[in-house]
Amino acid sequence: MGIRLEGIHFLVTYRCTYACDHCFVWGSPDAEGTMTLAQLTSAIDQAAACGVESVYFEGGEPTLAYPIVLAAAAHARRRGLEWGMVSNCFWATSVEDAKVWLAPFVELGISDLSLSSYAYFVEDADEDRLRNAALAAQELGLPMAVLEVGAAACLDIPGLCLGEDVGEIMCKGRAAVELAPGRAARSPETLVTCPFEDFAEPGRAHLGCDGELQLCQGISAGNVFATGLAAVLEGYDPARRPVVAEIAAGGPWALSQAYGHAPERALYADECHLCYETRSALRERFPDVLTPAQCYGLTAEQAAGAPQDQPA
Ligand code: SF4
Repeated sequence: MGIRLEGIHFLVTYRCTYACDHCFVWGSPDAEGTMTLAQLTSAIDQAAACGVESVYFEGGEPTLAYPIVLAAAAHARRRGLEWGMVSNCFWATSVEDAKVWLAPFVELGISDLSLSSYAYFVEDADEDRLRNAALAAQELGLPMAVLEVGAAACLDIPGLCLGEDVGEIMCKGRAAVELAPGRAARSPETLVTCPFEDFAEPGRAHLGCDGELQLCQGISAGNVFATGLAAVLEGYDPARRPVVAEIAAGGPWALSQAYGHAPERALYADECHLCYETRSALRERFPDVLTPAQCYGLTAEQAAGAPQDQPA
């Protein structure tokens, strides 16, 4: 079958200054795994050759590898790709300092700067830093938006539109453990679609230091570092790839039924909640698909050894 992607989102590092309850990839200050510049430039070269139009630098918190992101962004521009970045703004200690951080983005022609709001998730979220970053981006004329999940950002900045596109909470990754139990209200047999991913035409995929091309966090189409991006894209067939085929055909309920996973609870928060539970239980059976371990709250060492508790 084979597919074409419009965008690749780099999980530049799984490390983050926060450990948010809603994080899909279990980012935290202790998380390991950061892409090298060589990995990024190779992936960018391959992406350009495969007709990808844009790359995003995400994480974790990508600015923890700030000079590497700048160098990779410059490489992306040289290869004719658009680029964007998502950041939690921890670096925006003042508007003036934020302008120093963001000034190189002007020259590098960033197409989209997404600044995350933590109004819903982090009790002591420092929205002052988000405000500083947003004001600095405005002053520099950068294309910028505030990424809001679960609640509108607590900002009042003239010309900045907020609250109109607040994203849904999805209970996968750490959210399946930390947020889902308090939201569970749906029986598992009703979870018969994936409302968020189009596995036939995914449009974009995520890629981290492990090389897995992730269609949803923890669901790999193949390993780019092992076979190359072109081979992964050409060889991908959603109707034949285990796990993907079942989710695409009948959602997380079909996945659980196809492989004999008895749902562990009577009620679920959403499709992702049952999907994540089922996938976690099937990891050893489909190690090439249900990877990387980081997206299941495990280090590579933990994944190779005995089953362990999910980290906090
Ligand atoms: S239902 Fe599963 S595949 Fe779909 S977005 Fe949620 S976790 Fe990902």
